Amino acid sequence: MSAPVGIAEIEAARGRIASLVRRTDMVVSDSLTERIGLPVHLKLEHQQITGSFKLRGASNAVAVLSGEERAAGVVAVSTGNHGRALAHAAKVAGSRAVICMSSLVPQVKIDAIEALGAEARIGGASQDEAQREVDRLVRDEGMTLVPPFDDPRVVAGQGTLGLEVVEDLPEVATVLVQLSGGGLLAGVAAAVKARRPEAKVIGVSMRRGAAMHASLEAGKPVEVEELPTLADSLGGGIGLDNRVTFGMVRDLVDGVVLLSEAEIAEGMRHCYWRERQIVEGAGAVGVAALLAGKVQSDGPVVAILSGCNIDMAQHFDVLSGRLPEEPGGADG
Ligand SMILES: *Cc1c(COP(=O)(O)O)cnc(C)c1O
Repeated sequence: MSAPVGIAEIEAARGRIASLVRRTDMVVSDSLTERIGLPVHLKLEHQQITGSFKLRGASNAVAVLSGEERAAGVVAVSTGNHGRALAHAAKVAGSRAVICMSSLVPQVKIDAIEALGAEARIGGASQDEAQREVDRLVRDEGMTLVPPFDDPRVVAGQGTLGLEVVEDLPEVATVLVQLSGGGLLAGVAAAVKARRPEAKVIGVSMRRGAAMHASLEAGKPVEVEELPTLADSLGGGIGLDNRVTFGMVRDLVDGVVLLSEAEIAEGMRHCYWRERQIVEGAGAVGVAALLAGKVQSDGPVVAILSGCNIDMAQHFDVLSGRLPEEPGGADG
């Protein structure tokens, strides 16, 4: 079976979202270049509108809706970057967005979603109950579910980032891509490998609760225990009924690097002090993998800074060297 998303879908997505998302800059990191001994480029995607690449996939998903679907609106379960992105994309399209969340979600996150013009629907004490409300809105109100990663429209949108990387650095040898549900990696790998087949695409996850890595090892989607991590945007499972991203990641990825919390913190500190960039934990993992000496490449490397949505008090704590406790020792 051929991949559900290929270069044609990614090119089509790019045409649809060109006026809706930023074409973010890519810059040379002098300090990482010196440290690694290879040219290192940073794709500044944390400067994307809404603070993460998730706007690419969400914008593409909204752009392909029929007039009738757009009038009924879109719905998702996400308090994080996908929820923000979908709220923004729907508002720009003049569509309604409902973001369902559990009652455990802190008020600041609810406020952020509402500030972007979406309705926050608080239901139940768990993610599962929030999901049931989504199912009801789809069934009874004809709303369209936009999943955070396991969806061809979303993967194609994320893939537009990969096109920009190869255009800006045609000689790229290795691309380091954040890996959680795999929407970003599947899309970027499909684009990069279509344009430059010899380039390697490496996934980077936190060691704590790396669901895609565990699934690749098991040969099928599996669940892992979800643990608190600095890279909170990389948390969560890939779905036991995963349809799109598991197979694409399995077929396209050249390797996966796992990082400790201390290594992720080091990446965030480097981004701030040396690159002058404020990134969230997930956004820093590519840089962290380079700093930890966990990446081999035979040519220029690209690390994506994928997002900037972090509580600034927490960011300050990380800069100051204050880390949450790690059960199981410093390398946990
Ligand atoms: C969602 C997200 C990721 C992971 O993307 P997947 O498509 O789920 O693998 C990485 N970084 C940030 C900032 C994110 O919001």
